[in-house]
Amino acid sequence: MSFKTEAFVLQAKDWRKADRLYELFTPQEGVIHAVLRSAAKPTSKLAGHMLPFSKVRIMIGRGRMDHLAGAAVIKDYANIRTDLKLMSLAAAIVELLLKDKSSENKHLEYLQVEKIFELLNDQNINFEQKLVLVRVFLWKYLSIAGWQPELDNCLFCHKDMNIEQAGQYLPGRGIICLEHKESSYLPINAELLVFLRSINELDFEEFIKINISDKTKKEWRKISQAYYQAVFDQPSQALKILPYA
Ligand SMILES: [Zn+2]
Repeated sequence: MSFKTEAFVLQAKDWRKADRLYELFTPQEGVIHAVLRSAAKPTSKLAGHMLPFSKVRIMIGRGRMDHLAGAAVIKDYANIRTDLKLMSLAAAIVELLLKDKSSENKHLEYLQVEKIFELLNDQNINFEQKLVLVRVFLWKYLSIAGWQPELDNCLFCHKDMNIEQAGQYLPGRGIICLEHKESSYLPINAELLVFLRSINELDFEEFIKINISDKTKKEWRKISQAYYQAVFDQPSQALKILPYA
């Protein structure tokens, strides 16, 4: 049995003698693994279409192990691959996608991936803005994938959290009001709470224009790392090496 699909090429590694193993993100099943036989031979044309971070149309042969039976580039996002800093941002996206082991329908997530790669590839957006967009992606993606934190009511007393109010954040779960103060909860100021609530409401483009204070950026970075850690039970390597914003 075989089928055609669109996919993003996440990673490729050498496999057995001359084969390559591709990790691909598809709208139907999320991450799939597919072998390209004899990819390392200079005559392999398919391998030339399968560059990291590119969007491809592929034919997959289903078997004990999926194999790649055809590939064509839809968009190669070449600007990302020619800039080391952008590659590190794209690698953060890839790391997140590879961690998500659920293989159900990922159409909504796929649209988000498409969007973030478009923006990373766009030379009219500066690096600082792209860094914010990648972190926005993390929040959008985890929410769609089923890990949306509670941001409206206190997790403990269910009190409605006013947007002018600071609170605390329990990683992976959501907000807690200041009445249950504990040092292990992370601070979340009023500006950050408004910002976090807006993430699922607004399109990516809006975040190119939004300005938040340095203090809020710093708190956001901390709770983003904690969020990731709570979901996947391990720290994000990619988020750790991105301390700029
Ligand atoms: Zn409370």
